[in-house]
Amino acid sequence: MLISLKLKDLRGENVILSKKELLDAIAAEIIVCRKCELWKTRKNAVAGEGSPYSQIIFIGEAPGYLEDLKGKPFVGAAGKFLDTLLSEASLSRENIFIGNVLKCKPPKNREPLPNEIETCTPYLDKQIQVIQPKFIVTLGNHSTAYIFSKVALQFYGITRVHGKFQEASFLGVQVTIFPTFHPAAALYSGRYKELLLQDFKLLKHRLIDQRFNM
Ligand code: URA
Repeated sequence: MLISLKLKDLRGENVILSKKELLDAIAAEIIVCRKCELWKTRKNAVAGEGSPYSQIIFIGEAPGYLEDLKGKPFVGAAGKFLDTLLSEASLSRENIFIGNVLKCKPPKNREPLPNEIETCTPYLDKQIQVIQPKFIVTLGNHSTAYIFSKVALQFYGITRVHGKFQEASFLGVQVTIFPTFHPAAALYSGRYKELLLQDFKLLKHRLIDQRFNM
C-alpha cells in the first residue's frame, strides 16, 4: 500500500480504506493543521475537491480570498476561467480533482515561502498517492516547480516548460505531467489567456489520443 495511515480495528487488524475515506482522512488533518504560521491568518484551510477516483489532478498555488472564505479551491475569478479551460478540454469539476501546493492562504496573497511549501506539501503528496492519477496538470510556477523537483526534472520557469508533456514516476505513481500557466495570468494578459487556451487544447487532444476515460 502506498499510503500508510496506520489504522487498526479493535482486534488490531489492519483496516483497508477506500480512496474516498483516505482523502477524507487527509482533509480532516488539513483543516485543523497548525504546522506553519498560516493557520493564524486563515479563515479556512482548503484541502482540495473533486473525485477521489479521478485520473487527472490539477494543482494550483494557494487559496486566495474567496477560497479562504469558502474552504474550496478555485472559486474566485481565476476559478471561473479555470472552468472555461476545463470545458475546452471536455472536463468538468465532478470528474477531476483540484488541489493546491499550499492549503492555506498566505497573507496579502503573497507568494508561498519555501518553508511553507516544505511543511505543507506532504499533504499534496499523500493526496496524489491516494488518487494515483494518470495526469498531473500543474498551474503556474509554484506547482510546476514543486512537482518537477519531486521527479528530478529541471525547471526553467513556466514560460519555457508549459505545454510539454513529461512522463515521470511521482513517489511510485507513473504519471504524465502537463505544466501550464496559472489561470489568474489570463485575467491580466490576453497573451496568457491565448496560451492557456492553446495548452488546454493540447491537453484535450492528448486525452482523446489516450482514450482517456473520465
Ligand atoms: N489560485 C490558486 O492557485 N488556487 C486556488 O485555489 C485559487 C486561486
